[in-house]
Amino acid sequence: MTFLIPVLVQTPAHSTVASALSYRFDRRLAPGTLVRVPLGSRELLGIVWEGDARVPDESVDLKSIAAVLDGLAPLAAPWRALVAFAARYYQRAAGEVALAALPPQLRGLDTRQLERRLSRKPAAAEAPTSTTAAPEPTPEQAQALRDLAAADGTFLLFGSTGSGKTEVYLRAVAALLEARPGAQALVMVPEINLTPQLEARFRARFGESAVVSLHSGMTNPQRLKSWLAAHSGQARIVLGTRMAVFASMPGLGLIVVDEEHDPSYKQQEGARYSARDLAVWRGRNEGVRVILGSATPSLESWHLARPATADDPGGRYLRLDMPNRVGAGSLPRVRLVNMEQQQRGTVFAPALLEAMRERIARGEQSLVLLNRRGYAPVLACGDCDWKSECPHCSAFRVFHKVDRTLRCHHCGFTERVPRACPSCGNLDIAPVGRGTERLEELLAERLADTLRPDGTPVRIARIDADTTRLRGALESQLAQVHAGDVDVLVGTQMVAKGHDFRRMTLVAAINPDGALFSSDFRAPERLFALLMQAGGRAGRDAAHGEASEMWVQTFHPTHPLFANLRKHDYPGFAATQIEERRSAGLPPCAAQALVRAEARSQDIAQQFLRAARQAAVEAGLEADGAVVAFDAVPMSLQRVADVERAQMLLESQGRPALQRYLAAWQPLLHAVRARPEHKGLIRWAIDVDPLSI
Ligand code: ADP
Ligand code: ZN
Ligand code: ZN
Repeated sequence: MTFLIPVLVQTPAHSTVASALSYRFDRRLAPGTLVRVPLGSRELLGIVWEGDARVPDESVDLKSIAAVLDGLAPLAAPWRALVAFAARYYQRAAGEVALAALPPQLRGLDTRQLERRLSRKPAAAEAPTSTTAAPEPTPEQAQALRDLAAADGTFLLFGSTGSGKTEVYLRAVAALLEARPGAQALVMVPEINLTPQLEARFRARFGESAVVSLHSGMTNPQRLKSWLAAHSGQARIVLGTRMAVFASMPGLGLIVVDEEHDPSYKQQEGARYSARDLAVWRGRNEGVRVILGSATPSLESWHLARPATADDPGGRYLRLDMPNRVGAGSLPRVRLVNMEQQQRGTVFAPALLEAMRERIARGEQSLVLLNRRGYAPVLACGDCDWKSECPHCSAFRVFHKVDRTLRCHHCGFTERVPRACPSCGNLDIAPVGRGTERLEELLAERLADTLRPDGTPVRIARIDADTTRLRGALESQLAQVHAGDVDVLVGTQMVAKGHDFRRMTLVAAINPDGALFSSDFRAPERLFALLMQAGGRAGRDAAHGEASEMWVQTFHPTHPLFANLRKHDYPGFAATQIEERRSAGLPPCAAQALVRAEARSQDIAQQFLRAARQAAVEAGLEADGAVVAFDAVPMSLQRVADVERAQMLLESQGRPALQRYLAAWQPLLHAVRARPEHKGLIRWAIDVDPLSI
């Protein structure tokens, strides 16, 4: 007997193969079983799937499955449902999503290697052991935990920075593990650099062997090990970044998404999924609670957690509020510096420098925040109009003084700084504007005569993507800050979130104005979150809490955003933003998708988008007016690495209408792409619920 078995394999991003391929085998195989199958001249990892399958190539005989990796339990139905949903919703091939969700090393193992790998089984699942005592919950924590226990579904834990959200997660996980043997919890954080701290807290509470992590900073063997521990049920807690949303967890009983507003949850290539949104879907599908935590929730989640009113049934999420910091720690006082009133060219207002000097003399720490790395964003000639443009991108190359290079942050193109202006020979070429490297240098000058309590000179450090390139560099730099070896820390948003710096009592945002007038409608939301998060680093320790301050240097001190920031009033800020979004027909009050196209010329990219739109109109997709497509336009960063980029925006009142449109449009896009006149197109992709427009 032979059976026809549908198998998902990783298909090239632009293949139209959206479903499984058909293979022969001499027995039935359960869906979710991992197999190795021939495709073309290669042998690939595949997953036995359900439903219809396509014959890969009509002209040849059906091939047989080469091997079955039956040492592993099949991937369970809810996992397959998650993958199928993600593929459908984000308009990608199921095989691409499914295979990308597995650890890379699994793709390369044959049956024997896998068996050898599995025989190295860790000790049998231990009951989690509590090693550190849990603190008595605060009244707010206790209330949040009671509300959690009393209902099902998705919760928005809206807790100030330092209100003890992590303690709520720990207790919710503990309650789950006690209630059900074999239960597993998935805890997600936005960035790799936040995992060590959280991992340490979970390990201290639940024991070493109960916790595994999953993120892209791990080696392939480490990732495989964690994945197997999750898949076998041996790991009780899986802690990871956005990729962890796809972890195979047969005992899943709770999902936590910490800092749920963070843009890092959105994957920016391939299947552009939102791990936060998928977590909510997964929780609902598997009937388990989902806790989204943040001091500055995304407006999407905030909107979904709105309470019911007389004429609004309210959102689907239940909101849990923890407005106060644990202990006597209070939120920092916000001080706005009107840069209009400072001398021209002022980088640090004198009052801010004075405030930092006082901190240093008291042995406290300050954080200076600027979201731009390098020495200066542009180098310019004083005589002609030469600027350090990247020849390959529509962007300037950034001046890095450490190694005297001009580096493009988009394509990586790097050159030595020219001795003279390449255009007119003038020797006087100068940095314009400033990045973190220059701030660090300036601070060293301005604070040179300031001494620490022990009489030694001030210590200034910088943490950004440039100082942390090497593995382990970030950890060791953060450790220095925690140990008190640093008085003033200069950094990008990398250090603004999550870290529990105990001695920090001053945070200063040097130049946040760009976001106030950005063309991206989410820029104010991101700025507000960043400033609240950064402010959240200050005064976490009650001993210094009283005097903690958040300084903001701005040319627009009367901007309404700052009025809310001053009062730490996220709800007030969110209300005005949502009103604006509602009247402008923007998310969360509407749904969006982008189609992006890349080509050697802007014309080719836009022509493809226009033709694709035309195909949609001809197919009647816009007949009911539920989806509005805008004109194709160049992306705001129009050219990267000599590739021209264009995009077209789709808007709709609701997600279902948009989803129907996209599903019907997808095959048309492939067909248009195949026309000879679009040969010059390099690639196209759909971004559902895009985060930046
Ligand atoms: P968040 O995640 O909301 O920013 P954390 O969970 O990191 O806050 O808590 C802030 C600090 O308060 C941490 O040092 C934590 O150990 C401490 N903490 C949290 N809950 C309690 C509690 N119930 N009793 C005493 N200390 C607590
Ligand atoms: Zn010149
Ligand atoms: Zn470039």
